[in-house]
Amino acid sequence: MKESERFIHGVVASVGAAIGRALRSFDPLFVSFNSKVRPDQVRKEVERFRGSVEKSREQLKRMQSQLKRKTGPESSFLIDAHLLVLQDRLFADRIIDKIENEQINSEWAIQQVSEDLFQAYDRLNDDYLRERRGDLEDIVRRLLHNLQSNPLPSFKKLPYDAILIGKVVPPSMLFELRSQRVVGLATETGSPLSHTAIMARSLEIPAVVGAPELADVSSGDMLIVDGDRALVIVFPSDETLNEYKNRKHDEKISKKKGGAVTSAPSVTEDRVRISLGANINFSEEVRAAITIGCESIGLYRTEFDFFREGKQPDEESLVADYSIVLKSAKGAPVTFRTIDVGIDQKSWDGVNMNLGVRGLRFCLENTDVFKKQLRSLYRASVFGPMRILLPFVSTVDDLDAAHQILAEVRQELDLKHLAYDPGVPIGVMIETPAAAQTCDLMASRVDFFCLGTNDLIQYYLVVDRSDRSVVHLYNPFHPAILRCLHQVYTLLHPTGKPVTVCGEMAADPPSAAVLLGLGFTSLSVNLAAYPRIKRMIRSVSYAQLRDLAGQILKMQKPREVEEKVRATVYRP
Ligand code: PEP
Ligand code: MG
Repeated sequence: MKESERFIHGVVASVGAAIGRALRSFDPLFVSFNSKVRPDQVRKEVERFRGSVEKSREQLKRMQSQLKRKTGPESSFLIDAHLLVLQDRLFADRIIDKIENEQINSEWAIQQVSEDLFQAYDRLNDDYLRERRGDLEDIVRRLLHNLQSNPLPSFKKLPYDAILIGKVVPPSMLFELRSQRVVGLATETGSPLSHTAIMARSLEIPAVVGAPELADVSSGDMLIVDGDRALVIVFPSDETLNEYKNRKHDEKISKKKGGAVTSAPSVTEDRVRISLGANINFSEEVRAAITIGCESIGLYRTEFDFFREGKQPDEESLVADYSIVLKSAKGAPVTFRTIDVGIDQKSWDGVNMNLGVRGLRFCLENTDVFKKQLRSLYRASVFGPMRILLPFVSTVDDLDAAHQILAEVRQELDLKHLAYDPGVPIGVMIETPAAAQTCDLMASRVDFFCLGTNDLIQYYLVVDRSDRSVVHLYNPFHPAILRCLHQVYTLLHPTGKPVTVCGEMAADPPSAAVLLGLGFTSLSVNLAAYPRIKRMIRSVSYAQLRDLAGQILKMQKPREVEEKVRATVYRP
């Protein structure tokens, strides 16, 4: 019997519509995907699964004896529950049966079997037993992790157009699977400002986030993600499917007709030049940015590439990666932001990392990681113009400490007679209220600034950018934000230091126009937004926007500001 159509509401993260089947990601760290195993490889695949079971058992036994030594026998029984799951023939044998009968990879078999069990647990009336679901989750995670150290030799294409779903889907997963027929994204949590949402927009993958009812959707279910209406349609009717298929067809045609203005000069109607760069998150995006005519890479968030393999890269591979980025940029300057760990993450004890050891704080506590990245950047600097950008800075002391490390790195390179450009400009992100208030004090210590409105707004308005429940409070038109940006401009303008705005505020025409009005003449935006921001720049008068900024700075309410701006600015 055909299931009936169901609508799930969320928040728009990336516009457009996608039709496909759900592919549930289990965990932020590990996605299971479906790939067929050749008949002659099935035995090997079963061995791979058994290997993971064995490895997991050894790890658990080790943990159990450590726990016994530290806390006595009472708590080690917790591990027994996990060991029992591993020994349970119903669990392991069913997975092996699936691998053999359906000739599929271990990850997919584990996911399918455990999903059935999760649903069975969820149906239980007994609270205690229902809680045991967590044990199963843990063991599944461990098995998947251990399979990763012995991955399948090749990752086949997904068998269908997939819509990635999950509680969270990390940006790296979305990126890795983008060419594997992933056409859409929908997550139970998250907000449009999360990195995953930013990534979806830059890959032009329709996405809806903050839709908790997705928890009931399973891998394989037919879905439509409507990023324009913040809607996920589960088991769409034939009529709905046809409607969306026609819409996609029309979109394709209008996109073709639209043509690109990307190579046109970035100047306003009254001939004021606005520098427009691209934000990228993965090295592979550089080529696309240069192809559509971006004049610089205004922000390269290096943390996604850094942690892509699930382990730290070595220096030589980093040097190689950064060199390729600079060569692909063909002379366009690239601003490498040093790793900003922490965003979109919770620490192991559940602490919100947004207020914790993020960005430069992490680097100053982990100088070996920081130095390795800086050494690699400097070594690659001979291949093209680059800038180094330090994220999440809140004190001048942090900045001094970073400079000390930068100097040590240069010294080490000198001692080893390794070539590098000693004049690489060093800049700082203004994305904390502290940095916004004291940027003039930082000016003598840096060569340039980048204004990170994504974080600045979240910290200024006390609105978690990844929390769907407060998404309506996240507002770039809030007078507090306008005043803050005006102050930053006023403090920095006399210093003559270049400032680029690289938060998402620069990627939406009305709020980008506000930035121009406030005096900022350098923006950097995600690739998908590039054409529309170029169009906006070319359609406005800078003098008129300066005048508009003067008016909105006197307004009291975000809505008034927004209405005034929208009435003045061209919308593509
Ligand atoms: C910002 O905070 O505005 C920014 C550009 O950086 P991220 O989104 O990576 O925090
Ligand atoms: Mg930031």
